[in-house]
Order: sequence, then C-alpha cells, then structure tokens
Amino acid sequence: MDKKGITKQEISEKLKEFKEEDMTYRSGRILGSMCTCPHEVGLEAYKMFLESNLGDSGLFKGTRKMEKEVIQMLGNLLGKEDVCGHIITGGTEANIMAMRAARNSSNIKDPEIIVPKSAHFSFKKAADMLCLKLREAELDENYRVDVNSVKELISDKTVAVVGIAGTTELGVIDPIEELSKLCLEENIYLHVDAAFGGFTIPFLGLSGRNLPKFDFSLEGVSSITIDPHKMGLAPIPTGGIIFRDRSYLESISTETPYLTDKEQFTIVGTRTGASTAATWALLKYFGKDGYCKIAKGCMEVTEYLAEGIKKSGFNLMVEPKLNLVAFDSNEIEIDTIVDELKEEGWAVSVSSYPRAIRIVVMPHVKMEHVKEFTDDLSKIHAK
Ligand code: PLP
Repeated sequence: MDKKGITKQEISEKLKEFKEEDMTYRSGRILGSMCTCPHEVGLEAYKMFLESNLGDSGLFKGTRKMEKEVIQMLGNLLGKEDVCGHIITGGTEANIMAMRAARNSSNIKDPEIIVPKSAHFSFKKAADMLCLKLREAELDENYRVDVNSVKELISDKTVAVVGIAGTTELGVIDPIEELSKLCLEENIYLHVDAAFGGFTIPFLGLSGRNLPKFDFSLEGVSSITIDPHKMGLAPIPTGGIIFRDRSYLESISTETPYLTDKEQFTIVGTRTGASTAATWALLKYFGKDGYCKIAKGCMEVTEYLAEGIKKSGFNLMVEPKLNLVAFDSNEIEIDTIVDELKEEGWAVSVSSYPRAIRIVVMPHVKMEHVKEFTDDLSKIHAK
C-alpha cells in the first residue's frame, strides 16, 4: 500500500483497465454461468440500500420488513405462504443452512446426509463443516436421482435427504414427489436445492409446460434453496433459503449479545440488505407474468440451441427440460471442442458426470448468439 493516495480520476482509469480484462454477460459469450446481467430495477434498489446491514436488523427496520415480504412472496411462488427464511449470499450458504437445520433438528449421533451424485459441491463443504457423512445416491439413465438408491442408503443415522430441482451440470429435475413420500414415511428432513430451477420451474409451469412438482405443495419438503442471483436477475450476492417450519430456523439460532437483534440464523454475520432490496424490487416489478416471459424466452433459445447442436453433428446428453444444454461428440474430444470454442471467443464449461460441454441459456444468451455459436460448432465438426 502506498503512503499517499491517488486522485479519483486516476482510480477511475485504473479500474477501467481492470474491467477491460473481464468478460461481460452482455457480450453473449459467457455460456457456462448461472449468473447473468443484473436487471436495472434490482441494481437501483441495491444501490439505495448499500449501507443496510441485516446482521443488525434493528437498525434497518425497513429492510427487515422488506425481507419478510420477499420471503412471503417466494413462499407464495413455492406453494406455501407461511414460510420463513432469509435472503443470503447464494446457493452455497442456503444449502449449508439447510443441512445445519436438518442436523440440529435431530438428535442423531454420527449424522449422515444423502445427496444425489449430481449434487452441487456446496454439499461437500456443508458435510465437511458440519461433520456430516456424505452419502451419494446413484442416478438413473436420465441422470435423475435413483430413489431406490436413496432408499438403500437410508439408515438410522440419516438426518437429511437432498433432491435437486435443476441440477448444476444438466438442468435435470429429480423425482422430488417420490422423495417427499419416502421422507414422510421415514420421517426424514427433505431439502430441495432449487438454486437454479426455483425461478424457472414455477413460471414454466404457469406458462403451460408440464414439469414435475418440487415445492412445498409436497408435504415432505422441509426446505428449499432458491437463488435470486441466478434466474431471478438480482445482483450478486443474492441467495434464498426458505423453511417450511419456524422450528427449523430456530434450530440454527445463535445468540448475538451486542446487536439490536437477540439472535441470528445465517452463516454470515454482517449481511447486506441491498440484496433483499433488489429482490423485493424485482419480484414487484416483474410479477409472475414478467418472470414467465423471461423463463419462456430462455426455453425458446434453449430449444433452438439444442436443435442446432444436433444438426451440427453433436449428441445431447438429455433433452433439455430447463434452460441448460449439455452435449458431446462421437468424433472429437471434449477438451479439443472447448479449446476451439475458446479460440472463437466462447466461454463454455464442462460437466463432470457425464463429461460434456455445458451451456446455460441465461437471459443474456440471445438467439443471435446461439446462431453464431452453432455456426462455429458446425465448422469445428467439419474440420
Ligand atoms: N445449488 C445449485 C443447484 C447450483 O447450481 C449452485 C451453483 O451453481 C449452487 C447450489 C451454489 O450456488 P452459489 O454459487 O450461489 O453459492
């Protein structure tokens, strides 16, 4: 650190230099991310509440009120209005909170959690931090969790089962209804990770698409992760954790002696209220109709992309149900395809199981980008 500061003008110039090295969502070239351009309505709200700290919410009563309204609106979207929860940093914090609630709500020694083999790596972090044994259930031929494999893994040490509504790598929806029945029978906490699908599945359903149930309308579902900073178009970092019952939240309470609040439930202490403000503004601005339009638009681009990929001579891993397409090739190595796409300026990502190129069709990915992309794919295939 230098002794003397520099001028605002110099800072601005330096910042621009850094920024020039960053990719932008707006370019349409980021094809492997679940984040997107934050919407201007959310950004405005975010800026207004930059100094608000929900970790000391007695000082920010307006923001606290907004958070309650946001949780209620998300509950309404997810099949149950009288839910509780928080707006937090993202899917990772939400999943850790859910696993902590599941563990603390039981009195089980040497606790275990059962997650699909396709689960996000945040569950590995959760297991490590919370001293939980992670048991991975097998997938069926469509890469959904195999409920029989879950059944086989259940023991008197199981504190939670996890199902995924929109897997990170393939966008697949697990059979949550069957998991819900199983968990009710076995009296086990069921967490649904809808970090990605939570802002899409309900709206595609409202638009007439037939997608499986995944939410609190299923009695066995105890908690849901839903990330506004993914398909909700909120700025980073904005996650959501929703619990069916207040007792789950209470099980993860920590006393906070010197603050205006007596207790805290989240992993982070100081917690931005800006994310809550952005989510509140976006939910109000778009309403269900607006989000339906966004989800439908993404699916149209997804279906066009999937057709283009097939026509270019590549194989889809699964027919997309959500806005994610994964593919491989009989002739060309995945790494070679990734390198060649990179040379053309495309940033794609690679899934681990099955190994495939993975394109997330977020709202910043438009038809014109997909047309250019599939043209490049055809050229790669023809080489
Ligand atoms: N859960 C799922 C299904 C995800 O796809 C992701 C991230 O892509 C996460 C959790 C973790 O979310 P975050 O990166 O916001 O912590």
